[in-house]
Amino acid sequence: MRIDVVTIFPSYFAALDLSLMGRAQAQGLLSVGVHDLREWTDDRHRTVDDTPYGGGAGMVMRPDVWGRALDEVLTAPLPPREGTEPPSSGPPQGPRRVLALPTPSGTPLTQRMAEDLAGADQIVLACGRYEGIDQRVADHYRSEEHEVVEFSLGDYVLNGGEVAALVLIEAVGRLVEGVVGNPESLVEESYSTEGLLEYPAYTKPRSWRGMEVPEILLGGNHAAIARWRRDRSLVRTAHRRPDLVARLHTSHLDIQDREVLASAGRVVRPRRAEVLIRQAREGEARAVSELARATFPLACPAFLTEADIEAFAEDHLSESEFARMLADPDDHRVLVAQLKDGSQELIGYTLTILGGPDAMPAEMVRRGRLELGAAYLSKCYVSSDWHGSGVAGALLERAVADVAARGRNSQVALGTNIANKRARNFYRRHGFSLAGRRTFMVGEVANIDDVLVRNITVHQP
Ligand code: SAM
Repeated sequence: MRIDVVTIFPSYFAALDLSLMGRAQAQGLLSVGVHDLREWTDDRHRTVDDTPYGGGAGMVMRPDVWGRALDEVLTAPLPPREGTEPPSSGPPQGPRRVLALPTPSGTPLTQRMAEDLAGADQIVLACGRYEGIDQRVADHYRSEEHEVVEFSLGDYVLNGGEVAALVLIEAVGRLVEGVVGNPESLVEESYSTEGLLEYPAYTKPRSWRGMEVPEILLGGNHAAIARWRRDRSLVRTAHRRPDLVARLHTSHLDIQDREVLASAGRVVRPRRAEVLIRQAREGEARAVSELARATFPLACPAFLTEADIEAFAEDHLSESEFARMLADPDDHRVLVAQLKDGSQELIGYTLTILGGPDAMPAEMVRRGRLELGAAYLSKCYVSSDWHGSGVAGALLERAVADVAARGRNSQVALGTNIANKRARNFYRRHGFSLAGRRTFMVGEVANIDDVLVRNITVHQP
């Protein structure tokens, strides 16, 4: 690839002789020409600028000087591309030459743009100074059917286009075949195909200033490491670049991806939204009760009648029941997921009982690995519209973390109907395993539940 830079400060580009860019030039992968714009002036003072028409502060770069410079650079013969045969039939194809003009009012430079430009035969960079280059320069070359890209580094103003030109050269140059020794390293980077930021990287020493490298990276379990890295990428992107989350292809996201994003406050399905997971407040008994009544039937087996379900709701999911539980946060933990939009709608909740008279029913503490005094995850429900959004998993993990932080229980247990395979798989994925069975009454009907349990690391409060 040929790169030409036209500037009034050629020495700025000495940096291109260093490191990868320097090596790429030595190997003939890139050829860089730096030209002093003043070579194309025709007055004694080598003037490149003049006062702006219409008045105003500062000077504008003259189109006539730029025109002479760019005509010459854009028509200079290019060496044939290595490994490319001229097409045997059809009209002769000229080289792809791109005129790139850095300007704060240009299109933001992105990895996609860099990937596209890496396919050009020549990029000519015109570095503005002062108040910029007369607009007719870009307009003229565009009207002459040249490929013209006006690009910006970001929403701030630099003194000149040199730094922006260096950035573009480096971003594009490293994508030219052979410039980066290991092409694999280009695949996983930030902004690569999927549009996620890269996960954090660690190296030796393993312990530094009291901070340890995350344990999972030391174990050699490649699948677990890949999953951990993906989770960190998702969380980082959700926190730092929600605009990128808004552009993610949801078809590329599995349920765990969606749960991780929801935990970080971003939901992408069924529509994109911000979500807040928090403790329910005392005044919210009615809203939580309404959500509980709407969602409870979703997990009931088909043989239960409406009357049975209603009887259960009256006894256990009423506003007064929730008011009682919300007034006693030592024993009753109620988390809600709330949309952060105008509606402020509650779309999911968990109820966990840490102890007291509502603690896990004694008949559950019968078999195997279940310990007396396990916290009882009594409810984990999300409205049907938001199934598959990841909110349920995010709520569940927050509920478990909340139990751990309270420091009273070393296990979390729950019951789920034996016919509800979806729920069982969901809890298994979140580290729960079978500990026994129980009978659970809904109205007059006895249901058989699997009892599932997960051990937790207790934090001292
Ligand atoms: N008056 C111009 C404006 O407000 O849009 C700013 C001109 S700036 C002082 C001079 C030159 O710096 C520009 O012509 C451009 O080449 C370069 N430049 C400044 N900020 C830039 C940015 N964010 N991205 C790319 N180039 C920039």
